[in-house]
Amino acid sequence: MNRVYNFSAGPSMLPLSVLEKAAKEMTDYNGSGMSVMEMSHRSPVYEAIITAAEKNLRILMSIPENYKVLFLQGGATTQFSAVPLNLMNKNKKADYIVSGQFSKKAAQEAERYGEVNVIASSKDKNFTYVPYVDKFSPDADYVHICFNNTIFGTKYNYIPDTGNIPLVADMSSCILSEPFDVSRFALIYAGAQKNMAPAGLTVVIVREDLIGNARPETPVMLNYKIQAENNSMYNTPPCYPIYIAGLVFEWLLMIGGLEAMNKINEKKAAILYNYLDNSKLFKATAQKEFRSIMNVCFITGDEELDKKFCSEAKKAGLENIKGHRSVGGMRASIYNAMPTEGVESLVSFMEKFESEYKPV
Ligand SMILES: *Cc1c(COP(=O)(O)O)cnc(C)c1O
Repeated sequence: MNRVYNFSAGPSMLPLSVLEKAAKEMTDYNGSGMSVMEMSHRSPVYEAIITAAEKNLRILMSIPENYKVLFLQGGATTQFSAVPLNLMNKNKKADYIVSGQFSKKAAQEAERYGEVNVIASSKDKNFTYVPYVDKFSPDADYVHICFNNTIFGTKYNYIPDTGNIPLVADMSSCILSEPFDVSRFALIYAGAQKNMAPAGLTVVIVREDLIGNARPETPVMLNYKIQAENNSMYNTPPCYPIYIAGLVFEWLLMIGGLEAMNKINEKKAAILYNYLDNSKLFKATAQKEFRSIMNVCFITGDEELDKKFCSEAKKAGLENIKGHRSVGGMRASIYNAMPTEGVESLVSFMEKFESEYKPV
């Protein structure tokens, strides 16, 4: 076996023990004589898989009783449409904070359905920070934020207090990385391929009182009420990614839940940022107070050298370290499944690279 350290922003690494368990169960799941990929989603054996996955996610995140958990398809991007279709139903207005590319896309999509107020943006400083906002449009149907900005490597260091206005958060790249008080949010959504499972699954956690007022044109697949009433089985759910997510949830519980995971994540991020803060060659791009512990963006200041760094890193078994195509530079995504040794290897490699390409 020759596993590399994969720093991809998504799809990304999964815990090795999860992959090994899935491999063992691949052709005959739990004596069923078939793979999870092959079984009916209506069978008792699959029913047990999806039920346990939901139960364990509820335990991990301490999801209150009055929230539904939905296992959907379409990625986070589909939620850019589903959120306004389900929630932009009273005043047909919503507030969006634009702190990066995904929140910008979410706002653009919502504009199809009503009045979108971009109440703050960090575009003025190339999204290297997260705006602080404490004033919202009183008649907004909801406020939308992206909690961790995957492309720019920034994260909210506060939860906006929107009072009675529902707060909606895209948590694709930070869900399960640390404990969050779910009750502060009306709706949380996340594509699975960063911290939970293979691509194909989107998790939506939505407070029950927000369900049931979808706009009439809402496609049946995007309607939270229909999905909730059918326990995410209105049609065939993404069966296999839900199964893998279930294994990841078990793994998280085994290592001690989100408090324990967060300690490990903080440690991993500190190793990398401490090195970056002391390096003469590399520089972290995000402002300190808003640094993501999941996506660490950095540059040398010389595009050619950045390129060289990425290609040499790949040769050393450190893959997918190139920054997003829209920003360049480097980005090390160090999600839950990235072992501490992976980050240590990256730092040793950077030290070696720095000693060879010291700036003059
Ligand atoms: C990856 C990502 C998306 C896009 O997710 P898809 O599942 O590809 O639609 C949206 N928002 C954030 C924060 C992401 O990290």
